[in-house]
Amino acid sequence: MSELIKMKNGQLRVPDNPEIPYLQGDGIGPEIWQTAQPVFDAAVLHAYHGRREIEWLPLLAGERAYELTGEWLPEETLAELKRHLVAIKGPTTTPVGQGHRSINVALRQTLDLYACWRPVRYFKGAPSPVRHPERVNIDVFRENTEDIYAGIEAPAGSDMAKALENLLQETGQLSRVRFPATSAFGIKPISKEGSQRLVQAAVEYALKNHRHTLTLVHKGNIMKETEGGFKRWGYELIEQNYAEQAFTMAQFARIKKEHGQELAEQSLNQARKQGMLIINDVICDNFFQQALLFPEHFEVVATMNLNGDYLSDALAAQAGGLGIAPGSNINYQTGHAIFEATHGTAPQLAGKNLANPTSLILSGAMMMEYLGWQQAAEIIFKAVGQAIANQKATSDLAPSKTALSTSEYGRLLVTLINS
Ligand code: NAD
Repeated sequence: MSELIKMKNGQLRVPDNPEIPYLQGDGIGPEIWQTAQPVFDAAVLHAYHGRREIEWLPLLAGERAYELTGEWLPEETLAELKRHLVAIKGPTTTPVGQGHRSINVALRQTLDLYACWRPVRYFKGAPSPVRHPERVNIDVFRENTEDIYAGIEAPAGSDMAKALENLLQETGQLSRVRFPATSAFGIKPISKEGSQRLVQAAVEYALKNHRHTLTLVHKGNIMKETEGGFKRWGYELIEQNYAEQAFTMAQFARIKKEHGQELAEQSLNQARKQGMLIINDVICDNFFQQALLFPEHFEVVATMNLNGDYLSDALAAQAGGLGIAPGSNINYQTGHAIFEATHGTAPQLAGKNLANPTSLILSGAMMMEYLGWQQAAEIIFKAVGQAIANQKATSDLAPSKTALSTSEYGRLLVTLINS
């Protein structure tokens, strides 16, 4: 009999036979899920010899849900996700400029999955457009519930746009809008609590995993109150709560101002010697440049929703592409977590048995880590590493001579796990 994963006293309690929901999703979702699930089961069996086992619970979302129930994200699915705490999901379609809202955004907001953790690692043998992809080893923590993704938009000419125009007029800011009568508006909420809980998740991860630096990525030079606030509140939280474990470049700047460059350098060097986590910040456009030129300068990154969306795809491309870019959406306080690939539904590949399931498979390995099933996770990482190093993978990763279909690749991973 399967049991539920629970949260008790701030700790996840995982039974040996948890029931875990999965959502296959749209486009390539079903075929990558059908390939990934046997890999998860093989890894758990190999690691724990039957002592542990996952019972998978199928849930509906996306196009199939709409066909069957008339809803893109049925209430029952939401209720089951709330009850089970941990789930895994394939990609779902979001129409551009019209139609239903993103299911992902709805899930992240309803379950308050505020931290999107996306590790970007290079697997030897994966193709990359850069000369040294092996230097990319970056954990991105993207805030998941705020920013322009709140979805508060006023269409041009709407009552809401008119009301915003009036408000801007009253507050003397309308002259900043170039064409007020035909402008659509979007609202970008960034809060102190939202920023600090995300930064805290990134700091905790960095400390637990013995990382040396954490970088706050923002565009605070232009958006001084929203993105600038994220940076200020982030530094504030770290200085208040992690004074013994972390040294911030805001502290460095203060020491430099009060006591000069030499003392500031000494303090920084001392913090490094003591193994403290060094926290700096960088403006987002500069981050894109630096991450291409010197990816080894970045270890853990904390940023807001839109920046995080852009930069995790760009980093993934450097390390082998969206086909091997796993991700997760987590609320560390309630324990709720949904693991999913970074990529979308890749409609042009759907139904062709060509899509790369590695992103979803690695997302499953991250889920095992989250459950505390480290051994099963390591077995999956090892099998994926072996297959890619031997150029036995789907055609986005392997040359045409040795490329495998989605299902062949899945079978190879199961064989490697069992061997
Ligand atoms: P996409 O990620 O689906 O595809 C971008 C490119 O990457 C395409 O060239 C595609 O062929 C390639 N690609 C993606 N996944 C791959 C895989 N597993 N194997 C091999 N190649 C892969 O992005 P898109 O085309 O912009 O979006 C398609 C749909 O997916 C949209 O409706 C979008 O809203 C949705 N989407 C969903 C999620 C999600 O559910 N988490 C994320 C992103 C996009």
